Amino acid sequence: METKEFNDITLICKDCGKEFIWTSGEQAFYDEKGFTNPPARCKEDRDKRKAERNSNRNDFRRNDSNRFAYRTEDN
Ligand SMILES: [Zn+2]
Repeated sequence: METKEFNDITLICKDCGKEFIWTSGEQAFYDEKGFTNPPARCKEDRDKRKAERNSNRNDFRRNDSNRFAYRTEDN
């Protein structure tokens, strides 16, 4: 039995253009899942995109609550 060894790799984020570390632990995770492509974005941007997806799900319609009934007969 042979265990794979991974070394940290520096990648460039597709979104912000910054360098980020693809850690050996993450590489092992990707390998385990059978992913063949390295991550294109840094963790920060991946979290951001995740958060955006979640917030889009909560699409509140508040048009109705913004409607005010003006009383004009108060003289
Ligand atoms: Zn980034």
